[in-house]
Amino acid sequence: MKAAVVNEFKAPLSVEERDIPEPDPGQVLVRLEACGLCHTDIHAAHGDWPVKPTPPFVPGHEGVGVVTAVGDGVTSRSVGQRVAIAWLGEACGHCDHCVSGWETLCEAQQNSGYSVDGGWAEYAVAAADYAVPVPDGVSSLDAAPLTCAGVTTYKAIKVAGISPAERVAVFGIGGLGHLAVQYARLVGAEVIAVDISDEKLELAAELGADHGVNAAEVDPVEAIADLGGADVAVALAVSPASFEQAFASLRRGGRLICVALPPETAGPMHIPIFDTVLKGISVIGSIVGTREDLAEVFRLHALGRTRVISETRRLGDVNDAVAEVLGGSVPARLVFDLT
Ligand code: NAD
Ligand code: ZN
Ligand code: ZN
Repeated sequence: MKAAVVNEFKAPLSVEERDIPEPDPGQVLVRLEACGLCHTDIHAAHGDWPVKPTPPFVPGHEGVGVVTAVGDGVTSRSVGQRVAIAWLGEACGHCDHCVSGWETLCEAQQNSGYSVDGGWAEYAVAAADYAVPVPDGVSSLDAAPLTCAGVTTYKAIKVAGISPAERVAVFGIGGLGHLAVQYARLVGAEVIAVDISDEKLELAAELGADHGVNAAEVDPVEAIADLGGADVAVALAVSPASFEQAFASLRRGGRLICVALPPETAGPMHIPIFDTVLKGISVIGSIVGTREDLAEVFRLHALGRTRVISETRRLGDVNDAVAEVLGGSVPARLVFDLT
C-alpha cells in the first residue's frame, strides 16, 4: 500500500510502499477513502510540540474508509462498515476521565497519526471501539474534515456554554474556523469572524458570520469592542499574539476557548491577572471531542445543518499540500482522496 511517511522532523514526507498492516485483537483494518490535512499533522511532521511523535510515522487523523477485516474478539464493528479514524485513536475505558464522559482527557490514550500510524495511507488499523461509524447521509470527503475540524470546534462551542444572542468571536477561519462559525450560529450566537485574509472572511460570511474583521488591517480588539465586545472568543489561529487579542476582546464574564496549538518555539500567551479577575474571565482549554461528539457532528451534517468546504489532493502531492496550508491559500480544508 501507499503511505506518506515522516522519516525526519521538518524534512519532506516520503510517499512509500508499505505492507498492508494486519489487525491485532480488538482492531479493524480500514481501506481508507479520504483523509484530511489538519494543521496538527504539520505540527506533528515538524516536531513542534513538547510531546513528540517518533519517526518514522504516518500522519493523518481525519481518516474515513471501509472496514475490510476485523481482528480477534471484535464484535462492535463489521466488514463493510464505513468508519472514521479520529485523533482519539484509543483510550483506556476505565479511568475517571473515560467513565465520566471525558475520554479525550485519558492519560493512556493513543493518538492516530501521532503515537500510532494514521490515515495518510491506503490502509490503516484502528481500535474497533474507537472507529466511529459514518452514517450514509455523509460522504467520505465531507466526513474527513468533520472527524477533527468538525468535532473539535463542535466541542469548543459546547464547552463555551453559549446562550442564544451571545456574541462569539472566532479567531482563525481555516479548517477548524469555517466549522466553528457554523456551530456558533447553530446555538444562536452573533458571530464575528477574524482572520488575516479577506478570502477567508468572505467564506465566513457565506457560512453565516455576521461580521468580519481583518486582523492584518485593523486592531481586532478595537473592532470587536466597537461591536460591543465578545462573550466568547475561540482561539484557532496558530499564533500566541492572536490568543492575546482574543482574550482582550472579551466582555466581562467572557470565556476564552483555547484550541490552536502553536509551536513551543512561538512562546507562551500572556494573560493579565488583573483583567482576568476583575472581569470574571474564564480561560478554557479544549481538546478534540469524544466519539459521541463526533456521532452528533455527523448527525448534524446528515441533517444538512453544516457545510464542509474542501478541495481534494492526491497523496503523492502531500508536500505541496502542506506548503499550501502553510501559505494560507487553502479554502478551509484539503482532503487526500485515497480512492
Ligand atoms: P488552518 O491553517 O487551516 O487555519 C488557521 C487559520 O488561521 C487560517 O485561516 C489563517 O489565515 C488564520 N490565521 C493565521 N494567523 C492569524 C492571526 N494572527 N489572526 C487571525 N487569523 C490568523 O489550521 P487548522 O487546521 O484550522 O488548525 C488550527 C490550529 O488548531 C492548529 O494549531 C492545530 O494544531 C490546532 N488543533 C487543535 C485541536 C484541539 O483539539 N485543540 C484540534 C485540531 C487542531
Ligand atoms: Zn482512560
Ligand atoms: Zn486535527
